[in-house]
Amino acid sequence: MKLAHLENITKTYGATETMPVLFVGHGSPMNAIENNEFTKGWQSICKSIPKPNAIICISAHWETKGTFVTVMDKPQTIHDFGGFPQALFDVQYPAYGSPDLANETKKILTKADVGLDEKWGLDHGAWSVIKVMFPDADIPVIQLSLDYNLKPQFHYDLAKELASLRKKGVLILGSGNMVHNLRILDWNKPNGGFDWAQTANEKFKKLILENDHTSLINYQSLGQEVGLAVPTPEHYLPLLYSLALKTNNEDVAFFNDQYVMGSLSMTSVKIG
Ligand code: ZN
Repeated sequence: MKLAHLENITKTYGATETMPVLFVGHGSPMNAIENNEFTKGWQSICKSIPKPNAIICISAHWETKGTFVTVMDKPQTIHDFGGFPQALFDVQYPAYGSPDLANETKKILTKADVGLDEKWGLDHGAWSVIKVMFPDADIPVIQLSLDYNLKPQFHYDLAKELASLRKKGVLILGSGNMVHNLRILDWNKPNGGFDWAQTANEKFKKLILENDHTSLINYQSLGQEVGLAVPTPEHYLPLLYSLALKTNNEDVAFFNDQYVMGSLSMTSVKIG
């Protein structure tokens, strides 16, 4: 494996193609080492898109003061969770980073003063999904952080500035969960969603299909079911990053449209 430089990225990818954008519901970190309906969904969506030249992941699990992009050559695999089997802590995902892509990302994001981060790496929001999709770890991956001080509209507007990277074969991957309330998980309900979770998730899907991004940005006005679905913004915001990159005529498809333990939805979106 060698480091991918942006020049090569541009060269090896036809300028007429536009890479689809994904939002993936990542759910439990155990998906990284399990073979289940969700991992099968990730693998099959992966087969439906061109092989990316690089990946930018916007993960729910990297919140910062200010916006940062990882710039290291070799991002570490971060095991940012507790109470899981040793086998999950043993997972390493040795994809390279791409300092060139990090610098290019910093350059095109003009709405924020993006910092270059040398300490983070790949958190489980990124590697638990990307490892399943691209097990060979032969695609460089960088992460873009979520500034916890920014309003949803700002995140959405910032994300739009990433659009040119789609033409360079860069896969922009939002990783979170549309419905994510860990405080009220029902461990006796491995498959299935509470009524409010289904109401909220269906509302999100309807608005996505109607292209009503304004309502999705202002999710706090969407009623009490959505309030329960999004008790904190970090798992929802990656969805806004992905949606912001949708052009008017692009197709939207849902996959892994299932509930887990009552208060979690794995619903994922492919754009383009
Ligand atoms: Zn998560």
